[in-house]
Amino acid sequence: ESPVVIVGAGHAGFTLALMLRTRGWEGGVVLVSDEDELPYQRPPLSKEYLHAGQDEEDTRFRPASFYGEQRIELVVGARVVGIDRAGRSVVFADGTRRSFGHLVLATGARARELRVQGHDADGVVSLRARHEAVDLRARLSVARSVAVVGGGFIGLEVAAAAADLGLRVTVLEAQPRLMARSLSHVMAEHLLALHRRAGVDVRLSSAVDAIATEGGRVTGVLTREPDVVPADIVVVGVGAVPNDELAASCGLPVRDGVLVDAQLLTADPAISAIGDCARLPGPGPDGAGYRLESVQNAADQARFVADRLINGSTEPYWAVPWFWTEQFGQKLQIAGLSAGYDELRTERARDDKFSVYCSRGGTLLACESINAPGDHLRARKALAAALTGSGG
Ligand code: FAD
Repeated sequence: ESPVVIVGAGHAGFTLALMLRTRGWEGGVVLVSDEDELPYQRPPLSKEYLHAGQDEEDTRFRPASFYGEQRIELVVGARVVGIDRAGRSVVFADGTRRSFGHLVLATGARARELRVQGHDADGVVSLRARHEAVDLRARLSVARSVAVVGGGFIGLEVAAAAADLGLRVTVLEAQPRLMARSLSHVMAEHLLALHRRAGVDVRLSSAVDAIATEGGRVTGVLTREPDVVPADIVVVGVGAVPNDELAASCGLPVRDGVLVDAQLLTADPAISAIGDCARLPGPGPDGAGYRLESVQNAADQARFVADRLINGSTEPYWAVPWFWTEQFGQKLQIAGLSAGYDELRTERARDDKFSVYCSRGGTLLACESINAPGDHLRARKALAAALTGSGG
C-alpha cells in the first residue's frame, strides 16, 4: 500500500509523522523537506538561539536516529515541485516520483519580502529558516546597530535579543500601534513600554521608504518622515506568506493559503493541508475563513489528521488557539483570539504579572497573560468548554 506522504517537515509535518507512529499507524510514512537538515523548531530562532546560549541540536525536534527507529522515511534537501493527482504521486525537483495513499501539504509559510529599493543589499535579513538565524546571530555579534522593520512578534523578539546583546535597536512599525490585529491595546502598550524602557527606539506610524546602502551593503533605513535610521543590520519582519503555490499548481483552490474543509481536507479527498499553509472555513461573516501561524495550530491540526487517518473519524476539527512570546525575560501567553473585542478587563498582581481578558458582548474571546501561566491555562480551559458547549 502507498504511504502517507507529508510535504514539509516543520512543526506540522514533523508532528504528523510522530503522531501517526505514536497513535498506531502501521503503513508507510514519508516526510519530505526541501531544507537540507534535520527537522527543527522555529520559535527558539528569534529567542534563546539569538541570545547565543543554544546549539544547533537544541532546536532539532529529534536526533537522526529517531526517524529510522520510528520507520519514518525522512527525505531532506528534496523539493516537491508537482502533484499528479490522477496518478496519486508527487514529483520531485530531480524528476523522480513517489506515489502516495494520502498526501498532506505542510508547506508552511515564508517571510514576506519588503519591496523597497535596497531590499537585496548585504545586511538586510529576514528570519524564517535556521540558516538565517545562524547568519543573523553571527551578524549581531559584530554589529553595533540594528533596525527592525515591522513590530510583530518576530520583529520584537529580535529587537529584544539585540538590545540584550547591547546593540542600538530601532523598531519601525507602519501602524500607529504595535500588533493592532493580534493584541489588545493594553497589551500592545505594555510591550511598547517594555521595549522603550530597555532603550529600544520604537517608532510607530513609521513607514519605510528605502534601504540606504553603500557599495552594496546596508547603512540604514530611509523612512517617510523623512528620516535616516543608521543600521549595520536591517531585520525585515513584515509577516509571512503561505506556501500555497504547489497546491495551486495542481488545481486545488487557494486563497492566501490552501483551502480546506472542517476535516482539513482540500478539494481532493486524497490530499489534506495543515499548519501555516492551510486556510480553514469560518468563523467570520465574510466567509474568508482563517489561517493561523502558530505551533499550537500546526500541532493540533497534525494530531487531528493523524487521528482521522487512523480512525476514519469525521468529526470537525476544532481547537483553542494559543500562542506565546518572550521578550526581556517576560513571557506573554495568549489564549484565544482577541480580534473584535469590545471590552477589556485587567487583573493585575504586579506590573510584570497580569492578565488582560478580552470579550465581546460578554463572551470571553481571549486572555493575554504576562508571567501568569495559571491564568493562561484557566482561560484555555474556559474557551475549550465554551467551544464544546460543556458550559464549565
Ligand atoms: P513551517 O515551519 O514553515 O514548515 C514548512 C516546511 O515545509 C519548511 O521547512 C519548508 O521549507 C518546507 N516546504 C515548503 N514547500 C516545500 C516543498 N514544495 N517541498 C518540500 N518542502 C517544502 N509560533 C508560536 O506558536 N510561538 C512562537 O513563539 C513562535 N516563534 C516563531 C519564531 C520564528 C523566528 C518563526 C519563523 C516562527 C515562529 N512561530 C512561533 C511560528 C511557528 O514556528 C509556525 O507557525 C510553525 O513553524 C508552522 O509550522 P508548519 O509546519 O506549518 O510550517
